[in-house]
Amino acid sequence: MSHHSKFVLTDKQIPSVWLNVLPLLREPMDMPVHPATLKPLTPGDLAPIFPMSLIEQEFSPQKEIDIPGEVLDIYRLWRPTPLYRARRLEQALDTSAHIYYKYEGTSPAGSHKPNTAVAQAYYNKKAGIRRLTPETGAGQWGSALSLSCQLFGMDCTVYMVRCSYDQKPYRRMMMNTWGAEVFASPSEHTHCGRAIRERFPDSPGSLGIAISEAVEDAATHSDTNYSLGSVLNHVMLHQTVIGQECLAQMELAGEKPDVVIGCFGGGSNFGGLALPFIPAKFNGDPVRLVAVEPSACPTLTKGLYAYDYGDTAKLTPLMPMFTLGHDFVPPGIHAGGLRYHGASPLASHLLKHGWLEARAYPQLPCFEAALQFARTEGILPAPESSHAIRGAIDEALAAKAEGRSRVILFGLSGHGHFDLASYDAYLSGKLKDYEYPSEAIAESLASLPKVG
Ligand SMILES: *Cc1c(COP(=O)(O)O)cnc(C)c1O
Repeated sequence: MSHHSKFVLTDKQIPSVWLNVLPLLREPMDMPVHPATLKPLTPGDLAPIFPMSLIEQEFSPQKEIDIPGEVLDIYRLWRPTPLYRARRLEQALDTSAHIYYKYEGTSPAGSHKPNTAVAQAYYNKKAGIRRLTPETGAGQWGSALSLSCQLFGMDCTVYMVRCSYDQKPYRRMMMNTWGAEVFASPSEHTHCGRAIRERFPDSPGSLGIAISEAVEDAATHSDTNYSLGSVLNHVMLHQTVIGQECLAQMELAGEKPDVVIGCFGGGSNFGGLALPFIPAKFNGDPVRLVAVEPSACPTLTKGLYAYDYGDTAKLTPLMPMFTLGHDFVPPGIHAGGLRYHGASPLASHLLKHGWLEARAYPQLPCFEAALQFARTEGILPAPESSHAIRGAIDEALAAKAEGRSRVILFGLSGHGHFDLASYDAYLSGKLKDYEYPSEAIAESLASLPKVG
């Protein structure tokens, strides 16, 4: 075991491939289906909104996919990212557990999202696309894609969930600075946005609604594609640079994690961290992989595994996933990036078959963990990431209660420099926990489409 607290790799150790676990799966995965015909989705069905290179990655049978040189050149601006051992946090907890964290907040946009944004902008540019239309919740995906479009000389139109647009003006300013146009969603700019505003003039918006607007914009303009920041297989794939670096860094630390923990919105940072541990796990490694979500939007722990739309206006394919129903509008909790009704089909598949664990926490204990982390380790975490910190602290406390050691690795997916208003609300006692909205969930689940 190393005595260092920071484990850095050189430029040469940036992974040269993305890891694809699809061909390794032990159980066959359910396939997405076309929303109208209910037949298995074909690559051609996705062609109006995605370039063929990304569609191929979505269904790829290859175990490894080479990362293009132009993407690596941009990754090099901040990758490899550091891995730390949280010795001061361990001391404060008085635990014999060893806590490691992988920090993705060193990217220009402040989170893991540029890992896929850069790749998606690159492949779209190569396919001759002129403009991308992302949705964004807390503003992280919108920032990552605004940056990436700018680097590849493309336009970017962002549909930002209205409550975040109002709560987080600095994220919008950041996107504008990188040259993007930003609309509060639901907006007047699309047919489905106008329809929702007519029925619910005060709608705070949701990721499901913003995705509908972004998809509509892309599908109705031939030089424009849609871009999704989580959930899909190709997004999970691009994020595997995180976990691959961790494998090398844990080796430098001379330890092997007993448990790997990530916060879970659509699944991309968790997948990026955890999927590279899957091949060993399939071969008998007992490592536990734990996804942590907010109890205000408990997709994995209270949702159903079913076919559902990825958006509110039912424009997307039906995906087999854990879902709270495409009509579910979660309460406006501060971890905006975790307010999604669905989940990655790949993560859902692995959870259903027992390869992953899931856990939900209310936001107050997460902010408490974020503060303890900021005061011991110095980094001010994104509210999303605080869910992983809570999970890691609880693992460390459990190890202590059992009188055992445990090696814990968690993903610190981003910094919270644009989330200070939520810290302020917490510090001044204004932040509330939301009751698990069981009626809202039951109502929303009642409108799941009937497939098969
Ligand atoms: C977007 C975001 C998340 C949640 O999205 P995933 O796809 O589940 O990773 C988590 N943390 C940060 C910092 C984010 O920006």
